[in-house]
Amino acid sequence: MTKETPPNADGCHPHGDINYRFCPVCAHPLQTQVIKSTEPGRLVCSRCGYVFYLDPKVAVGTIGDIDGKIILLKRGIEPAYGRWVFPGGYVDRGETAEEAGIRETKEEVNLDVKIESLLNVYSYSGRPVIIIVYAVSITGGKLRAGDEAIEVRTFGPDEIPWSELAFPSTRDALRDYIRRYMSSSPGSGRNGESW
Ligand SMILES: [Zn+2]
Repeated sequence: MTKETPPNADGCHPHGDINYRFCPVCAHPLQTQVIKSTEPGRLVCSRCGYVFYLDPKVAVGTIGDIDGKIILLKRGIEPAYGRWVFPGGYVDRGETAEEAGIRETKEEVNLDVKIESLLNVYSYSGRPVIIIVYAVSITGGKLRAGDEAIEVRTFGPDEIPWSELAFPSTRDALRDYIRRYMSSSPGSGRNGESW
C-alpha cells in the first residue's frame, strides 16, 4: 500500500484516510494551524475555534494456532482485498482491547478464543493505525469464514504466505509469534493440544 492515496471528488480517501474539511460542531471550514511549535499542525474551526484532533485509530488482532498451524483469513474487503491476515479489526469506543479481539475473532473466523498474552503493539510512522496483537488459545467454535473473509485456513510456520500478507503489522506480528511460540520445536504450537 502507498502512504498517500489521492482523494476522491468528495475529499475522502478510498482507504479511510479522510480529508476532514468542516467543523463537526458548527459546520464551518476547518483550517490547519500550528498551535504548539513542537506538534504537527491541527485542524481548527475558522468560526468557533474547535480543534479537530486526528487521533490514531486503535485496532486489535489475534494470533492463535490449531495443532501448530496459524489461523489466517483472506480479506474480502478493502484495503488489502484478497490478502492474508490474522483475525482483527477496530476497537469500538468503550470496549476493551481484549473484548474487541475476542469479538472480531468470532465474527471473522467463527472461533471462541481466550486471550493468553500480549504479543506486541505495532505502529508505523505516517500511518494512522496502532495495532495491538494478542496471542490467543482456541476454546470453541468451528473454523469458518465470516462475511468479510473470502477464505480461512491454517498455515504451519513454514507455510506462511509472506508475499501475500495484508499489512506490515501482519508480517511483523507473525514473525514475532513464530519466533516466540513456534520456532523451537516445529509442529508443536502453544495450542498444540487437540480439541
Ligand atoms: Zn466550529
